[in-house]
Amino acid sequence: MIVTKFGGSSLADAAQFKKVKSILDMDSERKYVVPSAPGKRGPGDDKITDLLYAAHRAAQGKKPFKHLLERIQARYEEIADELNVSMDFKEEFAQIARELEKGATPDYAASRGEYLNGKLLAKYLGIPFVDAAEVVRFDTEGRLLEEETNDLIGQRLRNLYRAVVPGFYGADESGAVRTFSRGGSDVSGALVARAVNADVYENWTDVTGFRMADPRIVPDAQYISTMTYRELRELSYMGATVLHEEAVFPVRKAGIPTNIRNTNDPKHPGTMIRANAGPNEQNHVITGIAGHKGFTIVSIEKDMMNAELGFGRRVLQAFEEYQVNFEHLPTGIDTMCVVVNEKELAPHKDEVLARIRELVQPDQITVSEHLALIATVGRGMVRAFGTAARLFTAISSQGISIRTIDQGSSELNIIVGVDEEDFEAAVKAIYDTFVRT
Ligand code: ASP
Repeated sequence: MIVTKFGGSSLADAAQFKKVKSILDMDSERKYVVPSAPGKRGPGDDKITDLLYAAHRAAQGKKPFKHLLERIQARYEEIADELNVSMDFKEEFAQIARELEKGATPDYAASRGEYLNGKLLAKYLGIPFVDAAEVVRFDTEGRLLEEETNDLIGQRLRNLYRAVVPGFYGADESGAVRTFSRGGSDVSGALVARAVNADVYENWTDVTGFRMADPRIVPDAQYISTMTYRELRELSYMGATVLHEEAVFPVRKAGIPTNIRNTNDPKHPGTMIRANAGPNEQNHVITGIAGHKGFTIVSIEKDMMNAELGFGRRVLQAFEEYQVNFEHLPTGIDTMCVVVNEKELAPHKDEVLARIRELVQPDQITVSEHLALIATVGRGMVRAFGTAARLFTAISSQGISIRTIDQGSSELNIIVGVDEEDFEAAVKAIYDTFVRT
């Protein structure tokens, strides 16, 4: 049995709704459907969720907001009319307006996008609608109660052969609507998939899965047919944006595979993400390359640093005190480098450096800014011989110097740092070496 989640672009207008229906009709195993709110129909268009947040802000500031609700209502009505579905949106929107006037929360306002889309989709498909507020449970701080939610969804769907459960929201113990963070319908879909013990969690979107490199840098980058959840984590952490590992924790934990599919190209098998996978079908040593700009290396040098107990801890303490996360820690005998996100460091740079001086009395501190990190990820790298050598040769043969190197002990990932201006050329060089030759 399959749980399908459809993103906002997959449900942006009536034509997209029709595609969704035909995808569901293609496989009778696709029983439970988790929709987002209608997204953009094209560049310059608005996402329903954004309009709802805007209406909420206006209502809060005692400014006119009804015109925004009217725009949203018109979009739903247009979809419903084209699909020949009759639904009373007037009453729904009168209710939303009343709640906004009474000071409803932003979570309540934003959730209406999924709520109404779920109702509309259920009517169109002719299957039951289950309000997520009844089955997705948060605590009063807005944290998901995962096990309770799992039980509630399981109980509710046990006797429903098919159903639509809207994404993005649920309710807390007091009954107030709560949402996940933006993009949270992915989580909802994964929760439903786990609760009904689906064979696959299909995540339908507007791209045909992950590519081996960012197509803005490598326009013909191949699609990744299979990857593991750990590879997903490494790649999404480093900048691949199709799906974030954190968003699918319920299925990852349950060992249910996630399949990224394209609503606009439903025959393409997309990317399958599993707990474990054999060597990749295309016989490439690497699975993908991801990276981004905006890093800084802080190098701390001190003679005999190595013999000084607690040195590293004190250096990291200086960063921690200013809430700056470190990304990597390449260390030598008498140098320690801390790679951090430029944006996080910038507001506290002087204070952090002063604190390091105070805590460890270094001989020298150097700060190199405008660095890009590139992760080359692949479960095949453990078995292959000379991967690091090939990688470094690829980059250096372009005349690019490597500023830092970090190979995790899992051998799933090699991260190199290069100057920002060399970022694109380095990604291309890695791709060419591992994929084109
Ligand atoms: N509609 C919500 C958003 O725009 C949730 C989602 O699409 O996943 O963030």
